[in-house]
Amino acid sequence: MKCKFCGKKAEFFLRQRKLYVCKADFFNFLERKVERFIKKYRVKGKILVAISGGKDSLACLSLLSRFLKVSALHLNLGLGEFSKESQRICKEFCKKEGIDLILVNVKEEFKVSPKNFSRKKACSICGVIKRYLTNRIAFENGFKIVATGHTADDLASMIILNFLSGNFDLLFRLKPYTEPSLDLKLVGKIKPLYNVLEEETEFFCKLKGIEFVSVKCKFERYASQTKIKEILNDLTKDLPQIKLQIVSNFLNLAKNVKPEKPKLKFCKICGYPTIRDVCRFCKLVKGYEN
Ligand code: AMP
Ligand code: ZN
Repeated sequence: MKCKFCGKKAEFFLRQRKLYVCKADFFNFLERKVERFIKKYRVKGKILVAISGGKDSLACLSLLSRFLKVSALHLNLGLGEFSKESQRICKEFCKKEGIDLILVNVKEEFKVSPKNFSRKKACSICGVIKRYLTNRIAFENGFKIVATGHTADDLASMIILNFLSGNFDLLFRLKPYTEPSLDLKLVGKIKPLYNVLEEETEFFCKLKGIEFVSVKCKFERYASQTKIKEILNDLTKDLPQIKLQIVSNFLNLAKNVKPEKPKLKFCKICGYPTIRDVCRFCKLVKGYEN
């Protein structure tokens, strides 16, 4: 088979795109995607990339660093071996690449950890902590934009889950680019890999020799999103392009839907935006939620 781009001998078959590529054009393909994203949304300035130590966020950091100035942020969530290993990998990667890394020990600094919650709740609590701290740390360090490594696999599973649970507000707020609202202390959010597959970030890291965390967080398998991801992976056997189709069809549909903006006020404790008097993060810290 021949490479779709250069016509020379193909080295890989990207099954979910039905695409034959050579190694050089596989890298070009991902770089062009990220470059197009940056141009489309006019992303500029120094970007803070939130890295977990997993293949997606490390691929995201590596690809973005080719086009923009970047720093990285890693939150150590106090989840035993998983967190230790994640932190080690993030530190080593950033040192090797000469990228500034902001490292935050969430348990020590904020006295909160997903570990203190039931296994059914842990993942959603972890999400609250990550979203809050990523925004606050970026804002306090003068960044206007945070990038995450969310992939097409993440987006497709979030779209299905929010749809099935009737969370239409959340559903229609899912997008690759959210503008900053600095007067509200909200930095912008970008997902440059929203149309890249996990299979491809894994491939990218392996070919580039980027070490990534292979142990999984012990709570992950209890999350509904993980179950949806498994179903979608299974479906790709018959419908290879299903994840990319879900993402692109949804974004086409969402173009014409303007979700109502939540009425935000500032948290009485921390001063960051919330729809309540006290934000969910401060409630967690105070132990009001369990
Ligand atoms: P997840 O919520 O684990 O699916 O991760 C989604 C994205 O959030 C990742 O691609 C990272 O960009 C970011 N992220 C996840 N975990 C961490 C962490 N511990 N520290 C910083 N960023 C993270
Ligand atoms: Zn607060």
